[in-house]
Amino acid sequence: MEKVFRSVEKLIVYAKENLYLSEKDADYARNGIYRILGIADFEALKGLSVDRNAGKGISSPDELLKELVASCVEAGLIEEYQAEFIADEVMGEITLKPSEVEKRFYEIFERDGSAAATEWLYDQSVKSDYVKKSKLDKNPRFDAENGLVITINKAKPEFRDPKKAVSGNSVKGGYPKCSICHENEGFAGRNKRTLRTVDVELDGKKWFWQFSPYGYFYQHGIVVNYEHTPMFVEKATFTRLLDFVDTFPHYFIGSNAALERIGGSVLAHDHYQGGGEILPMHKAKAYCVMRSKDYPDAIVEVVDWAGTVVRVVSDNRVAIEEISNKIKEKWVNFTAPELGIIPKDEKGVHNAVSPTVVKTGRGYEMSIILRSNITSDRYPDGIFHAHPEFHIIKKESIGLIEAQGLFILPGRLEKELARLEDAIVNNQPIPDDMTDYSMIFDEIKAIAANDISKENVHEAVKKELASVCSRILDNTAVFKDKKLTVKFMNDLGFTLDK
Ligand SMILES: [Zn+2]
Repeated sequence: MEKVFRSVEKLIVYAKENLYLSEKDADYARNGIYRILGIADFEALKGLSVDRNAGKGISSPDELLKELVASCVEAGLIEEYQAEFIADEVMGEITLKPSEVEKRFYEIFERDGSAAATEWLYDQSVKSDYVKKSKLDKNPRFDAENGLVITINKAKPEFRDPKKAVSGNSVKGGYPKCSICHENEGFAGRNKRTLRTVDVELDGKKWFWQFSPYGYFYQHGIVVNYEHTPMFVEKATFTRLLDFVDTFPHYFIGSNAALERIGGSVLAHDHYQGGGEILPMHKAKAYCVMRSKDYPDAIVEVVDWAGTVVRVVSDNRVAIEEISNKIKEKWVNFTAPELGIIPKDEKGVHNAVSPTVVKTGRGYEMSIILRSNITSDRYPDGIFHAHPEFHIIKKESIGLIEAQGLFILPGRLEKELARLEDAIVNNQPIPDDMTDYSMIFDEIKAIAANDISKENVHEAVKKELASVCSRILDNTAVFKDKKLTVKFMNDLGFTLDK
């Protein structure tokens, strides 16, 4: 028990230094933690000298939480499987209340600007253990030669606490209605005791911003509608995205297509994804530039990108909104059966757009990704989805983030690719249980060519991953030839720039 008391004391010191715990609230917070840990016996405190400085100078909660949980298990207060849940409860107790977080956020916003405010909120989210940064930092990630960014996501959360798993799976009619509803703020059932959101106004309505605990890139977060209403890309979507980058010009923001298989994992609740990194697609060059006499202050670029993307560039928000909406309207009704493009049939709607915007020296750059989720007998997972030969690398839907060139590959790949690498380095055939990788294995060997040194084969694996991801983007392209994209824009009154 002594260890438990010492650990709690360290956390209190940590919270004072990192989470704005005031001296006045310290005793209250300590008692809150005792309550969470179920401590009713304080005998061990008798004569225990606690070092009041033990938690000083520590800026990450990881070690402190590990120590606390281990000591609680040792003392019989909790069981191992409850570790994550208890750590979340304890951190929730010493994290500022949502209203206080928001007040400080907007104070910084007014004084030092929106970038400083989001930086502060992100830092607090890491220090409160909401954003699992130390886990994220362990995810392998590299910038590929072909411009794509590849990451392997080893940080997937595991739902071990049965109480949590039950409530965490609640769907329609449950509380909260889904995993991103505002009612999740502080909700123990999903380990959201430390979730803190800040309100943001978009198109005159109240939305809220929150960081993702297992984000895919720097300061990855979502801005969410207060209402639990389905994803839907409409003209007002462009307005909201523009409002967002007006408030947070250092972030990009984009909306997933509002359809199954090509959209995000939560379609039941309207939200957009963004954050503090400019993703590869936004940096891609123009294949060609087009103009319309109706919009003299705007240009449209057919983007030199494996997927099908047009980019509307202008300082003029109205022009961006109108052109973007025209593109959307045209695409959702676009038919070209010879290309496999059918906007709607008995199975439902198939054509949709993913808009995503950044602010640059050129003004607003709204990229509209044209998507289709149609399936066929040959491609039951989608004609414009990663084709079966790539499923061993990536089978899940190619959503907004991947469509922009940042690939999140499954954690199992780390070990599996290492086995392929070993086999090649040792001049052995592909392992018997890995025949699903035959094509990948042969391609890596071909890239490594005659140099099967460990270093060279490792580089070859990276090149192969980048190549596969690029081919997956090719699969998602609705127009395999850029000339067809130009023709598509011609029909909207845009002509090639001379
Ligand atoms: Zn919801």
